[in-house]
Amino acid sequence: MAAKAREVKLIESCAAVLGWDQETMMPEGGVELRSAQLSHLARLSHQAFTSTEMGDLIAAAKSECAALPEEHPDRVDVREIERDWNKATKLPEALVSELAELSSKAMHAWAVARKASDFSQFKPWLERTVQLNRQKAECLGWEKGGEPWDALSDHYEPGLNAADVQRVFEPLRTRLQGLLDRLKGAPRKPSNAFNEHALAIADQERFVRFAAKRIGFDFSRGRLDRSTHPFCGGSHCNDVRMTTRYMETCVLDALGSTMHECGHGMYEQGLDATRIGLPMGEAAGLSVHESQSRLWENQVGRSRPFWTWAQTQLPAFFGDACDGFGLQDLVDGANVVEPGFIRVEADEGTYNMHVMIRFQLERAMIKGDLKVADLPGVWNGLYKDYLGLTVPDDRRGCLQDVHWSMGAIGYFPTYTLGTLLAAQLFEKARTDLPGLEEGFARGDFAPLLTWLRTNVHAHGRRYRLDGLCRKVTGQPLSADPLMRHLEGKLLPLYGLS
Ligand code: ZN
Repeated sequence: MAAKAREVKLIESCAAVLGWDQETMMPEGGVELRSAQLSHLARLSHQAFTSTEMGDLIAAAKSECAALPEEHPDRVDVREIERDWNKATKLPEALVSELAELSSKAMHAWAVARKASDFSQFKPWLERTVQLNRQKAECLGWEKGGEPWDALSDHYEPGLNAADVQRVFEPLRTRLQGLLDRLKGAPRKPSNAFNEHALAIADQERFVRFAAKRIGFDFSRGRLDRSTHPFCGGSHCNDVRMTTRYMETCVLDALGSTMHECGHGMYEQGLDATRIGLPMGEAAGLSVHESQSRLWENQVGRSRPFWTWAQTQLPAFFGDACDGFGLQDLVDGANVVEPGFIRVEADEGTYNMHVMIRFQLERAMIKGDLKVADLPGVWNGLYKDYLGLTVPDDRRGCLQDVHWSMGAIGYFPTYTLGTLLAAQLFEKARTDLPGLEEGFARGDFAPLLTWLRTNVHAHGRRYRLDGLCRKVTGQPLSADPLMRHLEGKLLPLYGLS
């Protein structure tokens, strides 16, 4: 079974490299054939994986390892491969290849529409994407009392359903809103000056690559390139492809994006290389993935200890260009809370509001309660409601994210669930590792990475989100650590405690 499963993953890993290439290197003229290549590979891997031969191999492997403890790596591999197989065999080959072709073309159409800030150019592609995803949900099925969105989200976060997400999001929104209201009337406003300080992009690039290496990204097993929308892809733990982006006015944007993607990249690099192509060598799910990226981006990258160290490094990359900024300016710059239009530029205080809006919208589109044609208007209405903003155009509105064009529906809530897990994991790491943050101030990040390797990365797909959270922290996933983290940092910064 393992050999056959690895064969399928070989095909998928080829597609992953082609997908990365499409976003970073491929000339525009390549779109048509690239869509055909990706669709062909999707069909091949689907055929190989859903064969009756694979079914027989799974059955044989299952009885072979029945006597092993439930958490034994071989048993976990069989359990997860069987789960994937049960789902994949429900999907017709034609739908799988059409979805792959559509997503490659729709991503291109999205990029063009976004540039022109014109939703009407993307609308037919999104309509087709929603239509095919509803078909997909029908094929996969969902639990009684659930809804089609549940079938789609299961691919990104096994077992996640819309009702559970709603139960987490509703009280979280109220608590975040309370915090944002307090900050609005605060006596101190952190300085935004460092965010508006122009620095040469070539220098920024050298600096963020240095920071990436220092926190633990292994460049001998990964790359960092540029793309419009930063992401982390690649084919396996020894070939991780991250991207970031640069803006002249804000090194914090490039640094934040890079540290975020590094969190993803270091998770991939921390997976068991002897199990490439098998579930024990794969990430647990997207929420756990996101916990790693958010932890390095926020708990580390926006902290005072991190900036205590980073400040001493600036002259080597920027000469005297940052001389006028003290430590407090850097910490302030990294932690200004200001509602904005763009999710990937959002601060820690408002970020989750962006996610909640998208969840509400995609859930409604898949349910059939929201027509794609009405998306821009409803999107803009929710931005007014959640963040008090009037969205000026589609580019800064419903065209900003790549996800729906990729066919990724059911994905967004993993960002917030991952953010909750990041805060919970970090609290535990701090207890387990005395002096952890004093180490950051000296540029020593290795203890944290080692702790994550042992407690998270090494488990592959052994545990689901909540199981992993309980295993590592002894508690179910909760919003309390995130609120403690935000209030503990932001209230003093805003002169409120
Ligand atoms: Zn991420």
